[in-house]
Amino acid sequence: MCKPSKPELNLWLNPDNNPYSQTPLKFSITYSDIKRAEDRLRRFAPLLALLFPELRMTNGIIESELIHISSSSPLPPTANLWVKADHALPIAGSIKARGGIHEVLEFAEQLALKEGLITTQSSYVELSQPAAKKLFSQYTIAVGSTGNLGLSIGVTAAALGFKAVVHMSKEAKSWKKTHLRQREVTVIEHEGDYALAVQRGREQANCNPHSYFIDDERSTSLFCGYAVAAFRLQHQLLQQHIPIDNEHPLFVYIPCGVGGAPAGVAYGLKLIFNENVHCFFIEPKQSACFSLQLQHPNIPGLSVYDMGQSNHTEADGLAVPVASELAISAMKNRLAGVVTIDDEYLFANLYALHKHNGIKVEPSAAAALSGPAALLTTEAGQKYTNQLKEDSFQAATHLVWTTGGLFVPDDEYQSFLTRGEKVYQTLYQ
Ligand SMILES: *Cc1c(COP(=O)(O)O)cnc(C)c1O
Repeated sequence: MCKPSKPELNLWLNPDNNPYSQTPLKFSITYSDIKRAEDRLRRFAPLLALLFPELRMTNGIIESELIHISSSSPLPPTANLWVKADHALPIAGSIKARGGIHEVLEFAEQLALKEGLITTQSSYVELSQPAAKKLFSQYTIAVGSTGNLGLSIGVTAAALGFKAVVHMSKEAKSWKKTHLRQREVTVIEHEGDYALAVQRGREQANCNPHSYFIDDERSTSLFCGYAVAAFRLQHQLLQQHIPIDNEHPLFVYIPCGVGGAPAGVAYGLKLIFNENVHCFFIEPKQSACFSLQLQHPNIPGLSVYDMGQSNHTEADGLAVPVASELAISAMKNRLAGVVTIDDEYLFANLYALHKHNGIKVEPSAAAALSGPAALLTTEAGQKYTNQLKEDSFQAATHLVWTTGGLFVPDDEYQSFLTRGEKVYQTLYQ
């Protein structure tokens, strides 16, 4: 009889991480590009508040809370640990809200300006009127998705009056498809993986001049939308009187699929906090496309299958075989490292967040909690923290980015918890 092996949790440190390097981005994205995205979200806020009643409380701004976590196994109770609660973001229910919605709005704005329906000075509430709906209904907005990006883009595009088409990869959960179909979004199911769904979507959109394809592997508009989170977080840290400086660094842990969302956030944070922020991504062991691509810069477009990984994971949002070229170029010199984990950790973490903090996340989001654990328990983690200024790791703020979960149906969540409780006992007790 063979003993079940202990689930793996590994940390790879990025040798090219260099806070002082100024490597030019292949796709140039500046501070003011991200500010422009933030301004755009602000201009559209009154319209969003009108279209989505759940945004009235925040006047149309889609943002998540910064939540302090006092004690959460597997972490020591003293750790200065915070959750950036994107699992509760309205409309999209995930980190995809900022990026996906931003690109839909940017496209709508361009059309409306061109057709003279608005000026940049007018109130965008105008765009809820029949003239705008009539214009938007002539266009299709399409996207390829493992689920959550489709939710954010499909729901927003449909609410504005666009035709919306979401190409889903085979990992996509059926409740995500139902959620979209109930909102008049066309869902096309593909038998293949995420890269294929994007490819098919791109091809179909190319055949139709009135179709706009949101390209998660290349889009700078998506990227800038994600990066807006950094400005928002900076504000929240100030409000909480949390200093980020040489003596008090910030450690950020974000689950990574194709890389667009975590890279957008991390890129924005690097612009603001420079060498005082340390960004780590978390990937499932069988879908570790981002760390593989960073390790093999000479093989562009490297797929996890080429390296013997299966791309099978319960983290549907992270089941991506090839990393985004844009995200790789953005993070090459800015990412501290990547944590890779067996799926068991997803469920143990999901259960831990529920048990200790009453936080409901989906398996992909739960991956983030293995970030601090990797720094605390692995040799590479030791090596990394030893290089820091003395005592600064103890004084650091640790931020676990919980990227999705709001709309997970109760029965599905219950089965995650049941599974998580079992592994939690063996992994963390
Ligand atoms: C999409 C997603 C991620 C990762 O974003 P990428 O841009 O694919 O790297 C992480 N968590 C959840 C819940 C997601 O939906």
